[in-house]
Amino acid sequence: MDERERLGDYRAKRDFDRTGEPSGDGVPAGGTKPRFVVQIHDASTLHFDFRLQVGDVLKSWSVPRGPSVRPKDKRLAVPTEDHPLDYEDFEGVIAKDEYGGGTVIVWDHGTYEPLGPDAGFEEGLRRGHVSFRLHGAKLRGTYALTRFRGEDDWLLVKAGGGTGHGPGTPNPRRARSVRTGRTLAQVAAGA
Ligand code: MN
Repeated sequence: MDERERLGDYRAKRDFDRTGEPSGDGVPAGGTKPRFVVQIHDASTLHFDFRLQVGDVLKSWSVPRGPSVRPKDKRLAVPTEDHPLDYEDFEGVIAKDEYGGGTVIVWDHGTYEPLGPDAGFEEGLRRGHVSFRLHGAKLRGTYALTRFRGEDDWLLVKAGGGTGHGPGTPNPRRARSVRTGRTLAQVAAGA
């Protein structure tokens, strides 16, 4: 499957004359380690978008409550369409009447190490369970994504002992971009 086919769902949902989101035609900066990004997206429903580079796309999940730094917090993660690699840098305002209309900030990003399963990360995604170690500015440590209830719902959980402290996830309205230090409101006002 070539890249254009792989991003077919992504492109079909968007009019690139009307949204500032990347079309996926760009060539992102190369690197040997796979990347991850967590965006906060103030769309019709405020949510986090969790994306892991797998090959030449970002595998994506919508995480309503966001990833938690506390082990034992189970966070619902609903798969969404594959996104282009250069979506990692997307921060801005999508017009209200476009798909996913609303404001986006890059809350965290970095590299990750695939840890399992032994059958391989892509095979793990097909089977419904992967684990990985995040090296972000905010999120660090081992996480797992596990499918349950058939095809549509996954859980994103941090591994490890202890219960941690605090809410586990920042208030998304007060959280700041790891790229620009801006809040959602500041990005929206700058548009
Ligand atoms: Mn989203």
